[in-house]
Amino acid sequence: MVKPNNNVQILMVEDNFAEAEMIQDMLRSIDQPTFNIIHKGCLADGIDYLKNQNNRSRSIDIVLLDLHLPDGTRFELFERLSNQAPWLPVILLTNLNDEELASKIVRNGGQDYLLKSELEPKLLARAIRYAIERKQAKEALRESEERYTLVVQGTNDGIWDWNILTNDVYYSPRWAELLQCRPEEISANLNEWINRIHPADLEFVRTTLQRHREGLSKFFKCEHRLQRKDGSYIWVLVRGLAVRDKDGKAYRMAGSLTNINTQKETEEKLFHNAFHDDLTGLPNRALFIDRTMNALERSKRLQIGGFAVLFFDLDRFKLINDSLGHIYGDQLLIKVGEMLKTCLRSCDSAARLSGDEFAVLLENIQDVSEAILIAERIQLAIQTPTRIKGRNIVVSASMGIILSDVRYTIPEDILRDADIAMYHAKLRGKGCHAVFQPSMHKRSMMRMELENELREILASTESCQENLFVVFQPIVASHNKRILGFETLVRWSHPERGIILPNEFIPLAEETGLIHSLGIWVLRQACKQVRIWQARGLSSKSDPISVSVNISGKQFSRPDLVDQIENIIREFRISPSSLNLEITERLLVENNDSIMKSMERLRDLGISLQIDDFGRGYSSFSYLQHIPVNTLKIDSLFIQRIGQNKNNAEIIRSIVGLAKSLKISVIAEGVETGHQFQQLKQLECQFIQGHYISKAVRGEATEELIIQNRKQIALDN
Ligand code: C2E
Ligand code: MG
Ligand code: MG
Repeated sequence: MVKPNNNVQILMVEDNFAEAEMIQDMLRSIDQPTFNIIHKGCLADGIDYLKNQNNRSRSIDIVLLDLHLPDGTRFELFERLSNQAPWLPVILLTNLNDEELASKIVRNGGQDYLLKSELEPKLLARAIRYAIERKQAKEALRESEERYTLVVQGTNDGIWDWNILTNDVYYSPRWAELLQCRPEEISANLNEWINRIHPADLEFVRTTLQRHREGLSKFFKCEHRLQRKDGSYIWVLVRGLAVRDKDGKAYRMAGSLTNINTQKETEEKLFHNAFHDDLTGLPNRALFIDRTMNALERSKRLQIGGFAVLFFDLDRFKLINDSLGHIYGDQLLIKVGEMLKTCLRSCDSAARLSGDEFAVLLENIQDVSEAILIAERIQLAIQTPTRIKGRNIVVSASMGIILSDVRYTIPEDILRDADIAMYHAKLRGKGCHAVFQPSMHKRSMMRMELENELREILASTESCQENLFVVFQPIVASHNKRILGFETLVRWSHPERGIILPNEFIPLAEETGLIHSLGIWVLRQACKQVRIWQARGLSSKSDPISVSVNISGKQFSRPDLVDQIENIIREFRISPSSLNLEITERLLVENNDSIMKSMERLRDLGISLQIDDFGRGYSSFSYLQHIPVNTLKIDSLFIQRIGQNKNNAEIIRSIVGLAKSLKISVIAEGVETGHQFQQLKQLECQFIQGHYISKAVRGEATEELIIQNRKQIALDN
């Protein structure tokens, strides 16, 4: 809007034509700038002239106003004119006796006044130029102030303006409103802001502010929490900029205050999601690893205050999930999460790592006994029956415990070892715990080696033949000890470790899925042996010898299991009735439809099904009513307790009774002594298996066993 001043347009309102002429002459005598004068003889004409210039890009730059005009009182003259064109600078032309009035007008917005008697060209020209410049500067200031006011009023942000020298702060009404206050409730000093800052953010705000004041940052920008009138906090973003003197010292700072609460809340939610488990709300693996890392670093730095990690999963969780459905499983996990929270001290933290795997970080643990105490407390809480959707559910947790050790550098290694300890706890039975020992690590490395070796062995029939073999343990009738069949038991002949028993590698094979090929290989060996007995005349239609094969529950997950079995029977041309399959009770409790179908197909083929380790662990036998089972094999635990405990005989008696009522037979396994044998005979258990009769022998040795057995029976008769 600043016009180059080499051509100045003047409106002169002067009723005295002689004086007007004189002033015009004076101005014409000036070379630079050129003054163009429009002369009006009364105020009305002057105002009319201005009215016709309807916008501010008009040509008039300044008004020279005589204070003695015929159409108006003297102060009113100025007011009327300046109302018409408030942007125009006005210089008053007065006589000596009007000086007082003129200065009053200048105080009210006029630019200057000049005494007509003292006028001379240069003075007049300079006064005009200054008046224009001053007015323009004032206008620019007014415009910027107006703009600023509009911004302050229009923006959603609060505005603050801090005079660092006096410590006075201007806070805009919106600033107050963001904090639920009326403007008058806000005092105009820095403490109004500082005292509202959340204690946890105060230090950060102070240093950020100080850095900007010292010129170390380009802008002041800081997110923090501010307390509102009702005591709650909101997240705000405060931005600002310092104004500095020539030495760079900040003397003023102003900026804005933005409410970022919603954004922060979303951010926090996202953060929470990234580091917490949806289901239980507990921290997840990532957060747990992070916290364990902190604990590790702290314990190394301070060299005191060790920590411990507990790692556990729920025994039988898969069973609950599969049989009752995921809703129960999920509810159970939520309950465990809640129970965990009640068992821990405030400094500890629990996490759900995956599935039914949980971990707990225990801080300030000096001795392993403290960790064990908490572990036992958690286990006890988990074992308390919980009601889920009207059902009583009982679970237990197997727990690995590990104490912090300076040798660890990453949390993942701690978790790995805690997991190994948990595995050892599981070997001890359900609901147990084990403290990690370095020797366990060796054992778990051995397990891994074993797994790799087993995988290689099962890759070809030749290597199976070389490294695996089966043994057969006779099963006899209790009334005459006649051998009626054999149970097939697998063995691994290891070049370094000698013979490895199935308890050591079957669980491994089950976990890794290797059980499918292993199970089929054993089945083929068993069928081959039946074929040999038939070929040697040791087994016939009238005097058959059957073979039993253990089938792992895992094998039933293969839909082609029954087809495979059928093919093997055909391949060896043996009668399906000479094959018994032993399945553990656990599988049947799961009551899975597809397993049931497979079992029905097996029965239809003529293969008999036996329940192995019957009586171990599961109390409800209702499943026996609707599955096609031929035989129960009483768990050896009951047999071994014969004579120790009267109750035991009662249990065996009731199992035998149950079997009778279901019209199925009973085998007692693990029979070691004559006393046990006699007792079982009395209890009317039909079949006997165990060291008392014979240990398991290689296939070749079975022939001799059968021949001797037949001879003995002939003698007895
Ligand atoms: P199981 O099916 O209950 O087999 C009986 C176990 O008791 C065998 O152990 C057998 O050697 C042992 N035993 C037999 N008589 C006596 C006795 O009088 N006293 C004592 N103390 N023990 C006796 P083994 O061969 O070590 O097998 C252990 C388990 O491994 C078996 O228990 C079975 O569950 C599993 N298993 C063995 N072979 C296979 C297989 O080919 N496939 C599958 N899936 N599991 C198998
Ligand atoms: Mg068995
Ligand atoms: Mg058994």
